[in-house]
Amino acid sequence: MAASLRLFGAASGLRYWSRRLRPAAGSLAAVCSRSVASKTPVGFIGLGNMGNPMAKNLMKHGYPLIIYDVFPDACKEFQDAGEQVVSSPADVAEKADRIITMLPTSINAVEAYSGANGILKKVKKGSLLIDSSTIDPAVSKELAKEVEKMGAVFMDAPVSGGVGAARSGNLTFMVGGVEDEFAAAQELLGCMGSNVLYCGAVGTGQAAKICNNMLLAISMIGTAEAMNLGIRLGLDPKLLAKILNMSSGRCWSSDTYNPVPGVMDGVPSANNYQGGFGTTLMAKDLGLAQDSATSTKSPILLGSLAHQIYRMMCAKGYSKKDFSSVFQFLREEETF
Ligand code: NAD
Repeated sequence: MAASLRLFGAASGLRYWSRRLRPAAGSLAAVCSRSVASKTPVGFIGLGNMGNPMAKNLMKHGYPLIIYDVFPDACKEFQDAGEQVVSSPADVAEKADRIITMLPTSINAVEAYSGANGILKKVKKGSLLIDSSTIDPAVSKELAKEVEKMGAVFMDAPVSGGVGAARSGNLTFMVGGVEDEFAAAQELLGCMGSNVLYCGAVGTGQAAKICNNMLLAISMIGTAEAMNLGIRLGLDPKLLAKILNMSSGRCWSSDTYNPVPGVMDGVPSANNYQGGFGTTLMAKDLGLAQDSATSTKSPILLGSLAHQIYRMMCAKGYSKKDFSSVFQFLREEETF
């Protein structure tokens, strides 16, 4: 795979933008024949917290799956359910002409696409490759370039909504890529999400996702600070949350994913911050926002501070906990 992908930087792939709007001649015919074969097998790579329920929703809609994860245990329940588990991303590409990847970071996505046994080794012409991981938009553009060279189509389609929305099929997908391909992507993404939005050229789905998560991190830290301050002022946390949620401070972090144990059921704070959206992943997304802000010369003062707070949490043992554990971090951090 091109060295450029391994050495990706924030500014790479920019000239790709306008060229990407026109699909390579010849690929469209193959794409059209692929998109009508609706219940042919779909490849799914990365069956973690999000990929697992997303793949199950494809199964519920009648799609046979070709499954791969570097962690074999992640595939077990799909194998038990009769789905086909293979031993590399290349093998997925050999058996399926529509593939969804749901991987932690840019490095993992590059490995799955262009590693020694990556998708690009065996991808079929006209295949539709949808990456739902949250990764660097510049890497999405580079991947799209490499995929296009093989006569296939790449779209970035990161998600918002968390594990709960992944389970209930209510994710929001932010999709970047050739507009003519959007309908084909929507057919699959609509099985896993209630909102599937076309954002523009490849990489724009990631751009929307990064902006959303930067705002989410800031609002989660703000909610945790406000709740902690209120508790230390003697307020009952449930009552304070109720007041915030009927007042101007209300946000998703306060009314749907409250970070204070005991305020809500069915959220990570009710389960010792297990499951959900890991602090490491939030720190990663804020790093992507930081890189994008640098390359576009955009001031993100609170975003940068949120990045440092989540990095510090990772260094202090919170990396595997849900990102709402910032409340616990503030409670335990007596040095402030
Ligand atoms: P996860 O760590 O739970 O799962 C990732 C899976 O990918 C794991 O099973 C891992 O073994 C597998 N994997 C890693 N490298 C691989 C490779 N090269 N080939 C095949 N499999 C590989 O992560 P997650 O929480 O499911 O998140 C996935 C992506 O979705 C991330 O980019 C994250 O930022 C984004 N996201 C997560 C949430 C959430 O609430 N968890 C919400 C929105 C978006």
